[in-house]
Amino acid sequence: MADKSEPCAIGPTLLTGASPRSRKKDIMHYLHVVFFWLILVSAIPVNAHSENSPNPKTPRQANDYHWVPGVIDIRSAISDGSHTPDALADLGHQRGLGILLLSDHERVAVEYGIFPLRKFFKYTKQLPSVETFGWDQYLDIIDTANHRHDDVLLIPGVESSPFYYWSGLPFSKTGLTLNNWERHLLVFGLQSVQDFADLPTIGKTPGLTWRNQPPALILFAGAILIGLILLRLKGLRSKTGIMITTLGLIGCIDAIHLGKSQYDQYHGDQKIAPYQEFIDHVTSRGGLTFWNHPGTNSGKRLLPPIQLNTPPYSEVVTESDNYTGIAVLSGEAFIDAEPGGRWDQTLEEYCVGRRQRPVWGIATADFHQDGRHGEHLGDYTTVFAIRSLNQQEVLEALERGRMYAVKGSQPNQDRLLKFALTDTSKVIRAISGEEIELSGERALIEISINASSGSAHPLTLKLIENGQIIVTITEETPVLRHLEIQPPSGRKNYYRLDISSDNCRILSNPIFTRPASTNPTAHNR
Ligand SMILES: [Zn+2]
Repeated sequence: MADKSEPCAIGPTLLTGASPRSRKKDIMHYLHVVFFWLILVSAIPVNAHSENSPNPKTPRQANDYHWVPGVIDIRSAISDGSHTPDALADLGHQRGLGILLLSDHERVAVEYGIFPLRKFFKYTKQLPSVETFGWDQYLDIIDTANHRHDDVLLIPGVESSPFYYWSGLPFSKTGLTLNNWERHLLVFGLQSVQDFADLPTIGKTPGLTWRNQPPALILFAGAILIGLILLRLKGLRSKTGIMITTLGLIGCIDAIHLGKSQYDQYHGDQKIAPYQEFIDHVTSRGGLTFWNHPGTNSGKRLLPPIQLNTPPYSEVVTESDNYTGIAVLSGEAFIDAEPGGRWDQTLEEYCVGRRQRPVWGIATADFHQDGRHGEHLGDYTTVFAIRSLNQQEVLEALERGRMYAVKGSQPNQDRLLKFALTDTSKVIRAISGEEIELSGERALIEISINASSGSAHPLTLKLIENGQIIVTITEETPVLRHLEIQPPSGRKNYYRLDISSDNCRILSNPIFTRPASTNPTAHNR
């Protein structure tokens, strides 16, 4: 697979380049369907029974999960991808993918206004996005595609640029720089058109947030005052008085900020605040947020007449809170998914009670067009543990960490058939995303990895405990291991897997353990 050099760049839209549906209604199609479901139902059931469900709202009903490969971070022809949702479902079906999470650009609009009348003298550039396409139409088109395909589930979401800011000056030697435009958050799980439309993305109006901008307001309020004094002294026909008062009023209108976000692009770097505002908003509406490609190395480039400047932004992983997860595997290197990196820092913070919820890892594809720049629908998959193929199940798996991330190529990638932690005395079991209460000092970790192709090849498996590698094994597939561990006592711990071979890398989500005496109600997430 090819690493991509310009993810999510502002570029020409390819709406007109949508490929036609290529659904084949011949016998091969039905054989594929039957074959897919045979794979699905024959996948090894995880048979998990952790004693305390992490979320008491929906206690575990069934014990059997099936692992279904999916792709997250897909742009369709609705924004700057090339395929219609329907064509994507066809392609997903051909590649043995059961789940496609679409994240068309929520809004691609930048605006620069000239001080002091930014609202009146401004340049705006807007490219196709879900906002310009229409939220109703977006959800409808995905819904229609879902009705036509019973073996591939499309889930609507968006990729957002919640904030950006300008630096430099227009027409100056260095020109204008658009900063942090490509700091992207993926949003899934919002249920209504209004929830999507209300996302507090910079520049979106109308809105009711109020941001005080003292310098401009004081300046223009002063102008109004001077104008009124002149009118009082020289009479209502004083042209100077009328002019100054009018300018002051226009300036005040311009300085008042009424957007959906309380931040604007003219007051420099606002650090994590605008992103946290965005994350908190999505969370309050029951949605999920994932930081996309925080290790980006392609965010700095010229786009005449301006410059784009989005340096790698790994720091957001530890600076922000209350989000659902991060892209631990994508076309952009992300060293903070390595053992002891920022991802582990967040998990450790969760274990010691300094973070409200654990941060889950996903793989993101940044997929736009099959075959372009080496793009292949099926690279960078996230494999979900679900009981049946429906949106609620997949969103629940995403919310609770019941998935693993793969940098490989479906259908030929390695498969993590089992990663489970068992309490040796109680014989209860937890899988990724779950927490288990240990009654004794020891526990057992079961690992099973297979190569989809069936051909044996060497891989290296690392078991990570609280950010430290505690076991490294190199052997040929298939790998079947039972490892006895002794979790550090008196604290919450976590275990995750990092598996790599020549053509594939798998990062599991963590399993948590806690000592028997701890109050379970403290661990709901
Ligand atoms: Zn992106």
